[in-house]
Amino acid sequence: MNVHLVGGGGFDANHYLIESDREALLVDAGTGMATDATLDRIRAHLDDASTPRIYLTHWHHDHTGGAPRIARELEAEILMPEAEAIAVREGRSDLTLGDRFGTKQEAHSVTGVEPGDTVRVGSVTLEVLATPGHTAGHTSLWDDASGTLLAGDAVFTGGSFGRVDLPTGDGQAMLNTLERLADLPVEDLYPGHLDPVKGQGKKHVELALSNARGML
Ligand SMILES: [Zn+2]
Repeated sequence: MNVHLVGGGGFDANHYLIESDREALLVDAGTGMATDATLDRIRAHLDDASTPRIYLTHWHHDHTGGAPRIARELEAEILMPEAEAIAVREGRSDLTLGDRFGTKQEAHSVTGVEPGDTVRVGSVTLEVLATPGHTAGHTSLWDDASGTLLAGDAVFTGGSFGRVDLPTGDGQAMLNTLERLADLPVEDLYPGHLDPVKGQGKKHVELALSNARGML
């Protein structure tokens, strides 16, 4: 499995392009402010035969804002947790919190997924994990074969984790999520913000859990 960082920084969440056997999955899509650059980077990795899809870990604006345009330009399907899909389907900037940044969420059709579902990318099978706490319907993607966690805003590198003070956030749910993630044999950790790490990702998750126990 190849994982490329194709956007992120500033207001944008990290967006990762996963490639395997001419299939590709973009995980999170940024605010939309830097979509031109993101599309250039994505296209540099795709050949004409590639069939891309987009996965959104949760409904926040810095992950979803760019998704509709990227979906149109690449003719890509958007997948996201069914519990939060309304925010993109109906263009609900009040739910994405785009309102707070003065940006409108463009409406787009979305295929809802549930925790426990799998998302296939070529020969890679990613499991949808329920990782509530940052938002109630938040999800992460887990590849058990390689120990790869695409965490969204559940857990970051360096011992930090997603904030729990936004609508539907819940500190106890975040603690439970971090406990479950700390049980996984995480090697490579690709968080929604801050730098990804390759190898020993589990140490970062355990540090975040330890910090969360002291803070939440
Ligand atoms: Zn978020």
